[in-house]
Amino acid sequence: MHAHPTQVPAFHLMTKPRGAICNLDCKYCYFLSKERLYPGSEFRMSETLLEEYTRQFIDAQQVSEVTFAWQGGEPTLMGLDFYRQAVSYQQKHKKPGMRIYNTLQTNAVTLDDAWCQFFAEYDFLIGASLDGPQHLHDAYRLDKGGAPTFERVMNGIRLMQQHGVEFNILTTVHAANADHPLDIYRFIRDEVGANFMQFIPIVERDNDTGYQEGSAVTARSVSAEQYGQFLISIFDEWVRQDVGRIYVQIFDVALAAWTGNIPGLCIFEETCGTALAMEHNGDVFSCDHYVEPAYKLGNINDIPLSEIVVMDAQQAFGLAKRDSLPDYCRQCEVRFVCNGGCPKNRLIDTPDGEPGLNYLCAGYKAFFSHIDMPMRYMANELAHQRPPANVVMHMQQLDAALEAAYAQAKRNDPCPCGSGLKFKKCHRRLRLLSS
Ligand code: SF4
Ligand code: SF4
Repeated sequence: MHAHPTQVPAFHLMTKPRGAICNLDCKYCYFLSKERLYPGSEFRMSETLLEEYTRQFIDAQQVSEVTFAWQGGEPTLMGLDFYRQAVSYQQKHKKPGMRIYNTLQTNAVTLDDAWCQFFAEYDFLIGASLDGPQHLHDAYRLDKGGAPTFERVMNGIRLMQQHGVEFNILTTVHAANADHPLDIYRFIRDEVGANFMQFIPIVERDNDTGYQEGSAVTARSVSAEQYGQFLISIFDEWVRQDVGRIYVQIFDVALAAWTGNIPGLCIFEETCGTALAMEHNGDVFSCDHYVEPAYKLGNINDIPLSEIVVMDAQQAFGLAKRDSLPDYCRQCEVRFVCNGGCPKNRLIDTPDGEPGLNYLCAGYKAFFSHIDMPMRYMANELAHQRPPANVVMHMQQLDAALEAAYAQAKRNDPCPCGSGLKFKKCHRRLRLLSS
């Protein structure tokens, strides 16, 4: 039985008007293999479906702000006229008082003045994929001919800046760039001049189907420890100089959790199931990471979107995230912020042999434990209506006090850092090594 539309929760829908078609051939892309789902298709959303989707998506939303999210493959390969048509349908169908937003994820290679003028005029928020400075970006982000893409991506980013387009940088973290966190962070912050960043771990299953099955991961995947250390290194710099001016998605999400709020990102929420994906032909799937036959919910030409999002199968998908959580996670100190992470990455066993632990667990645990003290500080500032950026000064004072303690410590004293080791085995040694 389907629920009445008034019970429809707020939901996101990533729409792939060009399916999996892309102008690049990034080695780790999880979506290129989805082309096989639609043999013979032209992978192009029709105008009729575009209008039908727009109408249904607006109709299904019970909130006053609605965001259309365009993704791929490479969504700009639909051409600009498609998006001109999209915004005109949005205006035609929007309800009184409703605000409409658009987000678009792109590799930025195709962007030119016309695209950027359009994005600026219609307030599109653009996500641009960039994996760091040239030698790191070009490790896996190649075009169909195997040529590097860095120059073209940077050109697209510069054009967006010239036209005042709002954008954030999405960086994937993988085997080739994971050991260079500060090079990447500083490059995006100082050279690119971006204020909003996301660092997405590449955990790529090693199988022939491209589906979420099997427990082997490719050599391109980041390791859990690497990902944790990557985030820690960037956090340690951010918390000492950049809070309040640079926004890193996972840090914001963590602060929400430390202040007792919902993290606001499905992978760290207790349940999921409200971030669906739609293919070019109107097929709707449980999630962008589960565009595979077993997770197809229906087609919006047959079943209204407002009914698809509350289907029993989708509710079960969302609740399984919580209900399949291993005991190891249930007893974990950072569960309140981690919640076991995304089910797509739950492919290892816990130390006591229970299946369903997140491949990234060791990294999450290290990172969330490491940021506890400054997060508590920021949460307390917020609770007292003070800016969380006060943490910068606080960390600088702590660092100065620690430096003074190191200067006075004797070789056999306990290390002032609190590790429990002798000074000579801990920070004295580290300081000697780095001097
Ligand atoms: S499966 Fe993962 S990415 Fe998909 S909705 Fe759930 S938490 Fe989010
Ligand atoms: S850190 Fe590990 S044990 Fe803790 S909730 Fe996350 S995945 Fe589970």
